[in-house]
Amino acid sequence: MAFKPANEIQDLQYFGEFGGVNPSISDSSTYTFLSAKTMFDTFEGNADGCYLYSRHSTPSNLYLGEALAAMEGTETANVTASGMGAITPVLMQLCGSGDHIVSSRTIYGGTYAYLKNFMPRFNVSTSFVDITKLDAVEAAITKNTKVLYCESVSNPLLEVADIKALAELAKKHNLKLIVDNTFSPLSISPAKLGADVVIHSLTKFINGSSDTVGGVICGTQDFINALRSVNDGACMLLGSTMDSLRAASILKNLRTLHIRMQQHSLNAHFLAEKFEGLGLKTVYPGLKSHPSHNQFKSMMNDKYGFGGMLTIDVGSLDKANALMELMQEKNLGYLAVSLGFYKTLFSAPGSSTSSEIPENEQKEMGLSDGLIRFSIGLDADIERTFKMMQECMKSVGVL
Ligand SMILES: *Cc1c(COP(=O)(O)O)cnc(C)c1O
Repeated sequence: MAFKPANEIQDLQYFGEFGGVNPSISDSSTYTFLSAKTMFDTFEGNADGCYLYSRHSTPSNLYLGEALAAMEGTETANVTASGMGAITPVLMQLCGSGDHIVSSRTIYGGTYAYLKNFMPRFNVSTSFVDITKLDAVEAAITKNTKVLYCESVSNPLLEVADIKALAELAKKHNLKLIVDNTFSPLSISPAKLGADVVIHSLTKFINGSSDTVGGVICGTQDFINALRSVNDGACMLLGSTMDSLRAASILKNLRTLHIRMQQHSLNAHFLAEKFEGLGLKTVYPGLKSHPSHNQFKSMMNDKYGFGGMLTIDVGSLDKANALMELMQEKNLGYLAVSLGFYKTLFSAPGSSTSSEIPENEQKEMGLSDGLIRFSIGLDADIERTFKMMQECMKSVGVL
């Protein structure tokens, strides 16, 4: 039977302390023990259901983590203070001095900078490859490779990874496949396709209100336990823990994710078709012209569409800037990085979110100056939005 991620979330039931319809928030950094023996056992990891200290875990964080694990179909999950606060401990947990990572070259700018500039300080090196070329991926694997890293739908070029094939490669070479699924929650379920660990920046669609940063690591109980270990767990020791109050608020937003994703996808698909119809160079996985259209289709869950992200290339940075400023003036969206807000957000990735990537490498991967990345909002009347955007394009000479 097909996996229904939103049903998995909905079927969980947590009540508050006094029968509240939302779970109670644990507003404490530390927890009392009735006996000294239980405290010792908890430190040793042998006292299930006991809480120790909130950097380790909290009831509120566990509620959110379990809901996200249900969504991704993994055994469990650990929530973190940000998306980067999820990515960095996972890689540090799996790699040590002398190890090697094979990563997609089109990934979030912060992840790219971390792999390229930061991890070498710990003698961990990374080969960046075109993740859509499986033979190139396999050729980059060495005897020191520990991790295969990619995004299901990549930022900002919206390349789609063949997760099943990558999982087979990972298995063959005894690697862990880590997939950042931030751009395609509900639409794609990487763990169901064989990924070992699924990461999200909760900052984006999942929380959906651009009021916090947050992250999650979804994986096996063993792996999450290892990350939380008081002796050598990267989450516990590096300390990128989410606050309980925030976990409670993200859990409430998660309740409407399925409805929001449907509307984001509907609106983005509509605009992508219209933009392409105007002759603009448009990238959206839902378009038949997208090189990975069939790949996305073969992996997607029913209902949630091809996501809320699209790009257009307007030819030059000057035109891109003029168009974005005018669209903001007309209240069509905000000139801002990030994604998943109710309002459309747009930015030119070459000079913002992907500016960590050197210019010559940007060119090689097809990240051009005139590229505008859109996170399409929840607009109630997307036809009106399109007409207004078309007017803006005419006024700045894009059309
Ligand atoms: C934003 C983002 C991140 C980083 O998440 P933060 O919450 O900003 O730390 C990682 N991966 C992708 C794909 C992102 O879009």
